Amino acid sequence: MSAAFLEVEGLTKHYGGVAALDGCTLSLAKGEVTGLIGPNGAGKTTLLNALTGLAKPDAGRVTFDGADVTGLPAHRMAARGVVRSFQIVRELASLTVFETLLLAPPHQIGETLTGAMARRRRWWAQEHANAGKARTLLERIGLWRLADQPSARLSGGQKKLLEVARALLLEPKLILLDEPGAGVSPPLREEIIALVRELKGEGLSFGIVEHDMHLVGEICDHVHVLAEGRTLVSGTFAEATADPRVVDAYLGLA
Ligand code: ATP
Repeated sequence: MSAAFLEVEGLTKHYGGVAALDGCTLSLAKGEVTGLIGPNGAGKTTLLNALTGLAKPDAGRVTFDGADVTGLPAHRMAARGVVRSFQIVRELASLTVFETLLLAPPHQIGETLTGAMARRRRWWAQEHANAGKARTLLERIGLWRLADQPSARLSGGQKKLLEVARALLLEPKLILLDEPGAGVSPPLREEIIALVRELKGEGLSFGIVEHDMHLVGEICDHVHVLAEGRTLVSGTFAEATADPRVVDAYLGLA
């Protein structure tokens, strides 16, 4: 395995009496696609949120690219190159595909008002450059011909591609994708897999939360299986899925 890029050590996050993360320890390697899998309620989404500044961990440590980034707010994680995809289209149904892509990114959550306003001013000042980048990205994901259509009309798979494009607009080093295969038709699924592989070839790193095990098996170099807020098993997809502890966790026997 390549050198660790993102390291998570003993990460803990409680919601009331529930330990969504309970001393989670794992790492993501540079230039690889790492799957974060596990049964419902294992803590996968909470982990994505904690790694992108959308949930503040109660304990533990996160190191990215050699720096301690534990508990940094979302805009600072994004500035360091860690972004996650969002299911944004439903909320912004009236916007066109192009407008949806160009909207100021959601990583402003948690910023102070002054910080957010300054960022917004910078964002609009960059609008022209962003518009150029947005066109290139839409061409790349095959949606440029739909740029003026309402984004609500996109298919499930096209929305997923748009989510990846929105993350790419921030020029990240590590993209965390939340269920890129959910609600996606087979041809679009292949496009998403091809895009992730292509981006990996360009040096991008990925963490992917996914329930579709075929997709995980096809694109992940390495997987971590989470259960009850902790890493249960790490290894290749074949190793992890052959492990009896993983089978038990999915069957609710762990
Ligand atoms: P799924 O595969 O079903 O999406 P997951 O592995 O992503 O599950 P999380 O969504 O991270 O799991 O949830 C882990 C646990 O934390 C669950 O018991 C969930 O109910 C709880 N939880 C997560 N977020 C919150 C919240 N904001 N408030 C209260 N409980 C939460």
